Amino acid sequence: MVKKIAVLPGDGIGPEIVDEGVKILRVVAETFGYRFSFRFGMVGGGAIDRVGNPLPQETLDLCRDSDAVLLGAVGGPRWDDNPPELRPEKALLRLRKELGLYANLRPAMLFEGMEESSTLRPEVLRGVDLIVVRELTGGIYFGEKRRERSEEGEKATDTLVYHEWEIERIARRAFDIARGRRKRVTSVDKANVLESSRLWRSVVNRVAEDYPDVELEHMLVDNCAMQVVRKPAHFDVIVTENMFGDILSDETAILTGSIGMLPSASLGDGSFGLYEPVHGSAPDIAGQGVANPVATILSVAMMLRHSFGYEEAARAVEQAVRSVLAAGYRTADLAPSGDLAIGTEEFGDRVAEAI
Ligand code: ATP
Ligand code: MG
Repeated sequence: MVKKIAVLPGDGIGPEIVDEGVKILRVVAETFGYRFSFRFGMVGGGAIDRVGNPLPQETLDLCRDSDAVLLGAVGGPRWDDNPPELRPEKALLRLRKELGLYANLRPAMLFEGMEESSTLRPEVLRGVDLIVVRELTGGIYFGEKRRERSEEGEKATDTLVYHEWEIERIARRAFDIARGRRKRVTSVDKANVLESSRLWRSVVNRVAEDYPDVELEHMLVDNCAMQVVRKPAHFDVIVTENMFGDILSDETAILTGSIGMLPSASLGDGSFGLYEPVHGSAPDIAGQGVANPVATILSVAMMLRHSFGYEEAARAVEQAVRSVLAAGYRTADLAPSGDLAIGTEEFGDRVAEAI
């Protein structure tokens, strides 16, 4: 069966890194006998310039008619002063919402030789291989917001709401993912203070009964923030609500050496997913052919795994990245002195060869 992939290169380094992602998918198709069709769409600043909308209807329709979306990055200084509706980033929020993508997956794994690029000590980093599963469409970011004036001055309110069903579906995702990994789930909350966290904990406990083969632990978010940099290798799957996940996943980013290494997936109920690097459009290096394509290539591996169920191919891509890095090849963000670095395209070629 042909898998339909919507490709949205976006702005800045987006087109350069997405090229490498598509290259890898083509090699995977050849190597494993899969069939992919690529259909390109515009998104972000480029779409604003051309049709006055960061997420044109035809792009949304294209995504809806696809099995998965590969996205580069959006935004840049050119559009920074635009009104809210004409901001490139608006496209991402709308896309996730329109497509019902409530689970954000951010793996952080340490590749051999990357210890030297991190600010943490090598012995702390050894064996790091974790994934943050963040609830993406509920919680305090989407609750009721209010501003009021009183005699005491201004007052602002944000509301943190979670429904049982929202917690249950993200918890199931986390347990399912853990089954394909080291079978440990750490559920992170603030149940000593927050009512929504107490509901969170009880729902996660109930879901856990369906997964007797997976070990569950609960951790308070303040403690987790500390453990993530103290003993990161302890963690396998971290599942948490929207805001805690936002903060913790950025924290885990420093475990991997460079922002250019971090992939992500946003998933809904079915197998459909949106895959993109965690980093932005990096306007400062756009057009130079020096961007690190690893985050995008690892996002492709996630697509193969989560949307298509091609686990063997996913592992082959990850292994290829591992072997190219182990052979000493680095893009400029990882190479201490620029003259040792190879470019975006060459790095992609080497990964392709390794597959
Ligand atoms: P956003 O606002 O979209 O999150 P940002 O402007 O905060 O993005 P990035 O665009 O991610 O941040 O860039 C932050 C820094 O990291 C920049 O110096 C950029 O050059 C660098 N960077 C980001 N992605 C890569 C990459 N793939 N390869 C090399 N360097 C990168
Ligand atoms: Mg930016």
